[in-house]
Amino acid sequence: MTDRLTPIIIVGARGRMGKTLIREITISDSMVLEAAVDRSSGPGLGMDAGRIAGLHDLGIAVTDELRPRRSSVVVDFSLAQATDANLRRCQEAGVPLVLGTTGLHKTTRELLRAAAKDIAIVSAANFSVGVTLLTRIAGLVAHALGDQWDAELLEIHHSHKRDAPSGTALRIAKSIAKATDRDPETSLRHDRADPHARPRERGEIGVSVIRGGDSVGEHTLMFLTDGERLELTHRATDRAIFARGALRAARWVVDKPPGLYTMSDVLGLAGLS
Ligand code: NAD
Repeated sequence: MTDRLTPIIIVGARGRMGKTLIREITISDSMVLEAAVDRSSGPGLGMDAGRIAGLHDLGIAVTDELRPRRSSVVVDFSLAQATDANLRRCQEAGVPLVLGTTGLHKTTRELLRAAAKDIAIVSAANFSVGVTLLTRIAGLVAHALGDQWDAELLEIHHSHKRDAPSGTALRIAKSIAKATDRDPETSLRHDRADPHARPRERGEIGVSVIRGGDSVGEHTLMFLTDGERLELTHRATDRAIFARGALRAARWVVDKPPGLYTMSDVLGLAGLS
């Protein structure tokens, strides 16, 4: 890691995450906004990126062309359909990519793996540092507790969320399944509230869902056994946590060799078993 400011290019600059990323960069003392990119249609193209983010002018106009300079890092929170083209640009320019866009197509995932032979890429569906840790320690704890403990996960999100359970809840449950040699396809149980539900079976991983209000996202993992209960909770109160995590990844990846990395790598957790 050097002392120089890391130049960051934001793709999806006019979006909710793009604006949050721009705000976080301007208050950082280790990064500088190099460029702000968004699609060609829609309002705001040519406008100052700082203005769009609700700040003062930064002297950087939002453009529809991604032209990375070799020393910069591209941080892309835009649209799954745009990922292939953005990835190609980064590969051609030889610059690292931090990819937060979700809903990636299978063929895009294959392209990511191929491009990671040439450039360093950090891809994560959830850049929260806390959620990354919770997902990682869920497996470690489940493994240590053994099969006399029941695992139950409860997630809460705002009323507009479409998918249930959340992708994060599924990843936490799968992390438990993997660490305890259970089949993630068959061991997850979603029907606790069903009037015809059968009693709990040993080895199940229960996943329950609550929707309402403006909750940014809560995940509570419970391990229950006779006489005691262990609970691990992550509570998100501000979407800026995803931007901060992604920018932490951008500073980390800037001098890394080509490869496909996760937030666990960024946090130094990947080697832990
Ligand atoms: P948004 O709809 O507010 O913003 C998306 C932006 O991308 C828009 O400004 C849109 O114009 C722009 N865009 C669309 N096509 C483009 C293209 N071809 N080139 C450049 N820009 C383009 O959405 P959002 O809430 O900011 O989320 C963006 C993405 O990030 C989504 O996929 C979302 O699921 C994901 N996300 C990931 C995390 C994480 O931690 N990984 C956290 C939050 C959101």
